[in-house]
Amino acid sequence: MTTVVYCEAGHRHALELIAKARTLSSEVIALCEDEAACGACLAAGADRAALLPLAPDDCAQGDAVAAALSRLAPDSVLFPATVRGRFLSGWAAARLQTGLTADCTALGVTPDGLLLQSRPAFGGNLTANILCRERRPQMASVRPGVFPMPETEGNVPAAPIEKLDVRPLRDYLTREGFTPAQNAVSLQDAQVIVAGGKGVGSRKGFDKLFRLAALLGGAVGATRSAVDAGYIGYAHQIGQTGVTVRPRLYIVFGASGAIQHTVGMSAAKTVIAVNRDRLAPIFRSADYGVAADWEETIDVMISELSEQA
Ligand SMILES: Cc1cc2nc3c(=O)[nH]c(=O)nc-3n(C[C@H](O)[C@H](O)[C@H](O)COP(=O)(O)OP(=O)(O)OC[C@H]3O[C@@H](n4cnc5c(N)ncnc54)[C@H](O)[C@@H]3O)c2cc1C
Repeated sequence: MTTVVYCEAGHRHALELIAKARTLSSEVIALCEDEAACGACLAAGADRAALLPLAPDDCAQGDAVAAALSRLAPDSVLFPATVRGRFLSGWAAARLQTGLTADCTALGVTPDGLLLQSRPAFGGNLTANILCRERRPQMASVRPGVFPMPETEGNVPAAPIEKLDVRPLRDYLTREGFTPAQNAVSLQDAQVIVAGGKGVGSRKGFDKLFRLAALLGGAVGATRSAVDAGYIGYAHQIGQTGVTVRPRLYIVFGASGAIQHTVGMSAAKTVIAVNRDRLAPIFRSADYGVAADWEETIDVMISELSEQA
């Protein structure tokens, strides 16, 4: 099986897919938006890298991706399910008149060589295993952080980079301006996450989590119950219906440890849980447990760290 992995300029999540594709395919081709991405993908284990120049807008880029895939003719294509990856994969799949499984959380190969694409369905109550039997290529986008980031060699292999000369059908959009998002959350890249659950009790409570996260150079995450209660926005939700994270340190206050939450943080290297109920299931997912009130504990942590700062 030949698999193409799409790699956006300035994003590293495609490298997770290169490493996974290596275990599924005999050949892995990186389809990249710039030369730096080609180099990173080759170092992560891609057999070949093809350079697809950036089109003026994402609709035109979707056309160009479809044209490139027609030329490379792979069996399967994987996109990181970033905002742009979701857009480009959907556009290209429609152009190629093939199927797309969006936001996969697991991949495999069936005994007859089909790409097995798994993702939560029906609000996360079931896992659907999806096959694309008739159409080619088989296309999937995959949640960032689901597969581990590969260790890459310092030396980039000297494989040639193929420059693809494909033209989008047309330009669709005129860019009038660009306003970057304020307070964008980057949980997936955070090395330290301070997370809170319903037990934190209020928006004001979460302000303390933001203070601790700032002292540790980290980001703030939350359980779904905390999000549903309006303590913090959905972009911070970690778990089955939120994001999957892999920080070096995960500190979680006032969360019970429901499976739908722990599935999103189980790859954290070290977990510290604070819960006043010493029987709370979160302690089963923790390396260090503190059976105490969350606020008393965080106040001590903030004051100790502030003194050191
Ligand atoms: C289909 C589906 C998808 C879901 N997806 C997600 C998901 O993506 N992410 C997610 O997180 N959940 C998800 N859930 C919800 C999940 O099942 C749990 O309901 C949720 O994670 C519980 O959140 P919580 O731990 O904050 O709240 P609770 O279960 O209410 O736990 C609160 C905890 O805080 C502790 N506590 C209270 N006061 C204090 C205090 N003063 N100090 C210390 N501890 C205190 C309590 O002992 C308790 O353990 C999903 C559920 C379903 C059905």
